[in-house]
Amino acid sequence: MIINHNRLTIHEAHKLLRSKQLSSVELTKTILELVRQLEPKVHTLVTITDELALKQAQKADERIAAGDTNPLTGIPAIIKDVICTKGIRTTCSSRMLENFVPPYDATVMEKLNDCGVVVIGKSNMDEFAMGSSTENSALFITHNPWDLSRVPGGSSGGSAAAVSAGETIYALGSDTGGSIRQPAGFCSVTGLKPTYGRVSRYGLVAFASSLDQIGPLTQDVTDCALVMNAIAGYDSRDSTSVPHPTPDYTQCLTTELKGLRIGVPREYFVEGIQKEVETAIRAAINKLQELGASVDWEVSLPNTPNALAVYYIIAPSEASANLARYDGVKYGFSYQDTDSMWDALEKTRQYGFGDEVKRRIMLGTYALSAGYYDAYYLKAQKVRTLIRREFDQAFDKYDALITPTSPSVPFKIGEKVDDPLQMYLSDVCTLPINIAGVPAISIPAGFGDGLPIGMQIIGKPFSEETILKIAYAYEQATEWHKRRPKI
Ligand code: GLN
Repeated sequence: MIINHNRLTIHEAHKLLRSKQLSSVELTKTILELVRQLEPKVHTLVTITDELALKQAQKADERIAAGDTNPLTGIPAIIKDVICTKGIRTTCSSRMLENFVPPYDATVMEKLNDCGVVVIGKSNMDEFAMGSSTENSALFITHNPWDLSRVPGGSSGGSAAAVSAGETIYALGSDTGGSIRQPAGFCSVTGLKPTYGRVSRYGLVAFASSLDQIGPLTQDVTDCALVMNAIAGYDSRDSTSVPHPTPDYTQCLTTELKGLRIGVPREYFVEGIQKEVETAIRAAINKLQELGASVDWEVSLPNTPNALAVYYIIAPSEASANLARYDGVKYGFSYQDTDSMWDALEKTRQYGFGDEVKRRIMLGTYALSAGYYDAYYLKAQKVRTLIRREFDQAFDKYDALITPTSPSVPFKIGEKVDDPLQMYLSDVCTLPINIAGVPAISIPAGFGDGLPIGMQIIGKPFSEETILKIAYAYEQATEWHKRRPKI
């Protein structure tokens, strides 16, 4: 039987593996061959772990032969290079960690290993997850499989591009202000940022600890639910992990939307939004209405325009504290060619960090400094509370809110890289969600001039099931998620 392995979803591959029509070794070999062919074009992977993958695949085949029915057993995955993998280099796409090999696994990796994952490699990203295009990687630039002259989004651009191109069946990313959803939207795949505290951050290299979450990037909503089943849950090693019961996320996947109340916040259809994006998202919401949901088109979250300013105070502040650990002494890059300790520290950070990382550290250090703390950091925290309250109030009336994932389709490589403010604006629709700590998913919702458009579905805390259900119903009624880039 000839099977188009690279286009198998997790649930399709799982069926074939269980019925012994396909082995994990065969599947892994096919994927590795695709990686070999596609990498020179898309550049999604910092490290390819082909030997490990084949070993894991063999083990998975043995597990399956012995009756293992875990849906992730033997399925190839790619892991964003910000998630610690024991014995596998974890660079954060930074010169600072270019040769860092973690002595331990992140909790999500332990969980995936327990499921019998096959790791294909570690994916490229914006350095320390700071960026929206993967152009800030200190190693190389990743290209969008839909148009190689465009960015895949960021910072999980390598993960999203790899899923879209077919170099993996699924991937993990991390999202601090949109880094799973925005690249998912730009590459036409599904990406979920879980509720803050839903997935353990233990072993996730910290960028902004009060905003960071790990989540899945997949080819469809069913796969997204399957990966959530594997990675969600309380972890005593992460003090912000929440001991909330973990449901079976596949149980909510029905196409019945009657009784669901959807709100459309007008502030997200911002000035400057691309016409094709607005048209596609409005059409998608109409579709949800046809499927039985009731839609209120006139919701207002008036603090939305403040989210960008709040984010760019809080995230850099936390980053400046988190990145203080890279001093050339404990681990990572170390500048040795000097006699002075201070000189070594300065040069380590001067050469180890790229421009965007330095910009964030300076912004954060300034915002936290004695004379400015009240004016910037404290004020930002107060507005954060207001934003969170607005979401709480909206969720008294609506089960979910719907917005575009990004105001534009993927932009050209080089177009915004020298204009940090323009780059920051590409996250206006995703940042408020991290500020509020609520969950949101991006799913394929159309194309503008052949380029992907993502729809964002936002839910109340720990209501991943509701947003997955809406996403699933929409997906089943449309064909966007089935389109694949021709590369
Ligand atoms: N693009 C945003 C930033 O640069 C968000 C990044 C992220 O979610 N990791 O901070």
